[in-house]
Amino acid sequence: MDAREFRKFGREMVDYIADYLENIRERPVVHRVKPGYLKTLIPDEAPQKPEDFSEVMKDIERVIMPGITHWHSPYFHGYYAAGNSFPSILGDMLSDTIGCIGFSWAASPACTELEMITTDWLGKMIGLPEQFLHCGKGKGGGVIQTTASETVFLCLLATRTKMVTKLKAENPDLDEMTIISKLVGYTSDQANSSVHRSGLLGAVTMVKLPSDENFSLQGKTLRQRIEKDRSEGKIPFFVCASLGTTGSCAFDNLEEIGPICQENDIWLHIDAAYAGSGFVCPEFRHYMKGIEYVQTFTINPHKWMLIAFDLSVLWIQDSSLLVDAFNVDPIYLRHENEGNVPDYRHWQIPLGRRFRALKLWFMLRSYGVEGVQKYIRHHCQLAHEFEKLVVDDGRFEIVTEVVMALVCFRLKGDNILSEKLLEEIVADGRLYLIPAIARDIYFLRLAVCAERTTSEDIRYSFAVIKSCTDRVMRRYIP
Ligand code: PLP
Repeated sequence: MDAREFRKFGREMVDYIADYLENIRERPVVHRVKPGYLKTLIPDEAPQKPEDFSEVMKDIERVIMPGITHWHSPYFHGYYAAGNSFPSILGDMLSDTIGCIGFSWAASPACTELEMITTDWLGKMIGLPEQFLHCGKGKGGGVIQTTASETVFLCLLATRTKMVTKLKAENPDLDEMTIISKLVGYTSDQANSSVHRSGLLGAVTMVKLPSDENFSLQGKTLRQRIEKDRSEGKIPFFVCASLGTTGSCAFDNLEEIGPICQENDIWLHIDAAYAGSGFVCPEFRHYMKGIEYVQTFTINPHKWMLIAFDLSVLWIQDSSLLVDAFNVDPIYLRHENEGNVPDYRHWQIPLGRRFRALKLWFMLRSYGVEGVQKYIRHHCQLAHEFEKLVVDDGRFEIVTEVVMALVCFRLKGDNILSEKLLEEIVADGRLYLIPAIARDIYFLRLAVCAERTTSEDIRYSFAVIKSCTDRVMRRYIP
């Protein structure tokens, strides 16, 4: 493809993207295909001769779209929002075009420096204290990672290394494997599965502590378990608390957990993958009380802040804990400004990295802080509108307080009724919802996800749920 053709098809693609997003509510939100559907639509081998790109464009609707679940449809209410916006898409286009691999400052200074500035902007927007920022006086700063899962794993490995080094210095006879076998990390039974998995990947025990009746982890539970584990010769070293859990958007009690971690020399990581974007609105920041005790803090702008996957931001108070943990410095990566500026390869697991800060910069400039706040508050308002419809119906109950843009609800009575309701919704196909279970309570989650969701869309979603409920009631309630 030459530049002339690129201009032609580039324009066509931009039109296609704009039409897709503008008219997405007209598409069925859930795909209707069976496994292996694609094999019947495209050849087994790559074409021997070049094809005209207009043929490729035609295949997007014929081949790809039937196998797509439309995550940006206003009727997609599963998981949490997958962020996107036009400026973010433009940022990815430019990032792909420049195509630099920003492992060091010297590899493309703009790539590192824009990341430092935009993570500082974002940190200030959500009210992080100065010690987490590059512009602060200490060794703090933000870095863009791929996902919250990779981030929690990275932090766990860094603190594992720190602990092993410290204990070996105190007891030179101890070998590394013995120390690692005694390390214990803690999280709540409501934490995202990636936290448990990071324990498996890091070969350390990760204890899932019981949450309270609001699905929140309390300090007392953590303290008791740390004391028990210490009395058995184990070594508590890591806590991952959640601000906004996956199942029900519950908030662990950071104000209590923080001081316990500090007393016990435990690295406290906060997973605020979803709800962290909500802290752009000051009315939600009381959940961050105790932030000064936190070592590392993550939010996913690729969830609820208008940024296309993948862009997760990690802030750390003392970046030397990452940089020194895994420092490998071959000659071909060195440059004359080393030490004066971050080389982000030391702050992450892979070596290579994309110029992700561009899409963050484009989005933040296009929306401004006020635009992002408006978007967050609009979604929260829509969640409350849905909550009211559910409550007014009388057959449902709300499972947890609606704080952000997630409503957890169920049919009154046995779990089986809500399970059947979800089956009806899935069979109906007009909405996409997923369930959760906490403390043996089965419930449905309705997350407001799409940027352009309206009150009318929410009323439509509720009408679908109501008609599915009518069917369940007719069938299962005598
Ligand atoms: N943490 C929480 C609270 C989440 O809700 C999720 C995903 O929904 C994750 C972590 C995982 O995010 P990622 O896909 O960025 O790893």
